[in-house]
Amino acid sequence: MYFGIDLGTTNSLISVFENGQPRLISSKPMVPSVVALIDGALITGDAAKERLPTHPKDTVAAFKRAMGTDKTFKLGRQTHTAVDLSAMVLAHLKHLASSETGYDVSDVVISVPAYFNQLQRDAVRAAALAADLNPLRLINEPTAAAIAYGLQDIDEQGHILVFDLGGGTFDVSIIEVFEGVLEVKATSGDAFLGGEDFTKVLFEHLAQKHGIPTDDVVIKARLWDAAESLKQRLSTAHEAECDFVCDDRTESLSISRDTFSDIASNLVRRLRLPVERALYDAKLTSQQIDKVVLVGGATRMPLVRSQVSRMLGKLPEVGIDPDHVVALGAGIQAALTANDAALDDVVMTDVSAFSLGFSISRQFGNRYEHGFFEPVIERNTVIPASREHIFQTVELGQTEVHFELYQGEAPRVQDNIKLGAMKVKVPRNSKDYESIAVRLSYDTSGLLEVDTTVLSTQKTQSVTITDLTGGLSAREISARKKALQSLKVHPKDNEDNLALLARIERCYAMALAEDRNQLQNMLLTFQYALDRQNPSEIQSLQESLSEQLDQFETNYVR
Ligand code: AMP
Repeated sequence: MYFGIDLGTTNSLISVFENGQPRLISSKPMVPSVVALIDGALITGDAAKERLPTHPKDTVAAFKRAMGTDKTFKLGRQTHTAVDLSAMVLAHLKHLASSETGYDVSDVVISVPAYFNQLQRDAVRAAALAADLNPLRLINEPTAAAIAYGLQDIDEQGHILVFDLGGGTFDVSIIEVFEGVLEVKATSGDAFLGGEDFTKVLFEHLAQKHGIPTDDVVIKARLWDAAESLKQRLSTAHEAECDFVCDDRTESLSISRDTFSDIASNLVRRLRLPVERALYDAKLTSQQIDKVVLVGGATRMPLVRSQVSRMLGKLPEVGIDPDHVVALGAGIQAALTANDAALDDVVMTDVSAFSLGFSISRQFGNRYEHGFFEPVIERNTVIPASREHIFQTVELGQTEVHFELYQGEAPRVQDNIKLGAMKVKVPRNSKDYESIAVRLSYDTSGLLEVDTTVLSTQKTQSVTITDLTGGLSAREISARKKALQSLKVHPKDNEDNLALLARIERCYAMALAEDRNQLQNMLLTFQYALDRQNPSEIQSLQESLSEQLDQFETNYVR
């Protein structure tokens, strides 16, 4: 039995994959991600959510946003981290699934926002372990949604854009479905934009318009509840209103769709950038998107739907309930990870959500500035991936180079996340700078390998970083390392590529005038592609260049 979990900011769900398809556990599958303290005991789910407006000091919600941080939450006199609270929700889901299926629920795939960094992902793994679950894999939420949709359309082909606006985060993914292969082309997002932000602007608008004091925690929690309910009602009605009792007076709160659009216009505008970035990274235009699917409760808002249609020029599909789709996809991924026979023909590839690279020094005039980020595996690279980069010493006579590995997109490493470090000795050379080839290899389990070669001595050194794998066994790690080995050849040293370069040169020797120009262009194009080390780009060039050379040779040999 394979289980998939959607650990959401607002609600969490668990699915099981059986008889070739996923289904949600329990007739009421959405478990509120809320924890409450009642008579000294902690409870989660619906019962905890009920107490949110009346006992705000003994109830916490939306703690997923604090995953990976040191923030603590007070529940009465107790203090808990986001990991503790998430573990309680996960334990609740485990219990639901094992009572319904009768199986011991241990191996699970858990979804996380694509934009969760390594610390946040580690926090999710820690929560799973604390709930006595074995997190086989973490899957990006939009990827999970795309799998659920992709599996439906596995016989079709085209590009699907998944637009996922949940309670706390916004993710965009573009996936290509082609002959049974689901390939994630790009993911992008905003880790601090979600349905809660829309509730917040409405809450602030109501507080200001009606002069409601928000320094009292109970009034604040009740007004938040009212704002949330009005926001949800606006998804089906043009106007919504409710009574609100405060300080012995009753205020009639009301809001129209137009006013809501006005006060939320900044948030709606922020939806654009991640969509554009995903399209750019996938090298696609909006016209090349065949299907747009919506995921996450906040995509029920008409103002979000019309923004999606405006940006992508087509109406989104909502074939699968947007609240359920991520958990269903996580269940499919669990079955894929465990090689379930029902999914034999389905191949899934993912991309790295972050860039990985090293800290370097840059020269400005005659001085060096330290701590700049130099990516080696760029964001949205298909994984598993292996890339090589040449680094140089910065001082003559330098005898050691300190490599620090980071993950992130910020130009300075201090704003990215440090994953590890290694020292490489180089021979003292007072005449020239030393060069070191650094190869970074990364696979879907999170295994990261750094291999260095000092070019002048050919001395090699390797470090394997397993912190990101969430506790793979030594045997699994060695199997993964073996699989990565085959990728560790620079495309410039690959025999097929060398043969193609030699063939272009041979044709050049044969050719004259205009044809020579064209062959020189082919040579440069291919060499640049080899420098970029992108396997799919190299493969498609190999095919197109070979065809052109076939044509050329028939013309000349004639
Ligand atoms: P999720 O994390 O996917 O469960 O999404 C939760 C978010 O969706 C919360 O911010 C909810 O306020 C929002 N949401 C759920 N239902 C609706 C609705 N009918 N209209 C507007 N927002 C909704």
